[in-house]
Amino acid sequence: MNCQEFIDFIMAYLDGELPDESRIVFRQHLDLCPPCEQYLDGYVKAVELGKRCTEGASLPADVPDALVDAILKARRAAES
Ligand SMILES: [Zn+2]
Repeated sequence: MNCQEFIDFIMAYLDGELPDESRIVFRQHLDLCPPCEQYLDGYVKAVELGKRCTEGASLPADVPDALVDAILKARRAAES
């Protein structure tokens, strides 16, 4: 699995839709590739943030910028 495939699998992984085999490969890549681990972490946080937004809860003012920054950095690292 390469980083692009990893990123393609993230949504299915989080939805629990990955077959066992793919999930094992996915986790192996996660162990070997810190940028992808960061990317997944940022992705999970973004999903949580998105949920909170759609639920109408107010967000602390200092969170979004730092979070967006972290996601962009992780994405850049995963692509390089
Ligand atoms: Zn990777």
